[in-house]
Amino acid sequence: MSFQAIEASLRGRLEELNKRLDAIKADASQQHSADFAESASERENDEVIDALGNETQAEILQIRRTLESIAAGTYGTCSNCGDNIAEQRLLAMPQATLCLRCASDAE
Ligand SMILES: [Zn+2]
Repeated sequence: MSFQAIEASLRGRLEELNKRLDAIKADASQQHSADFAESASERENDEVIDALGNETQAEILQIRRTLESIAAGTYGTCSNCGDNIAEQRLLAMPQATLCLRCASDAE
């Protein structure tokens, strides 16, 4: 099985996420120069920005791991039972590390 299409879409997503992270960081540094009177709401904003940033970073990390496993040739194998993960499942959920059976057992 070739994962070229999946790899291409993951790389596209990664680029998008990196841009988003840059935008989040730019927002965060901009807000620190705001008026002192706004510091309370500013702090709330920071928390939102942190949460967004963490979420984005977590997804970036997950995609990097997926790309690494494609490069290493271990992609598409269930991390629990070692079976091949169905192509349909990988196309729908490229970051899946469990086959459908193990995933439904885990739920
Ligand atoms: Zn499995």
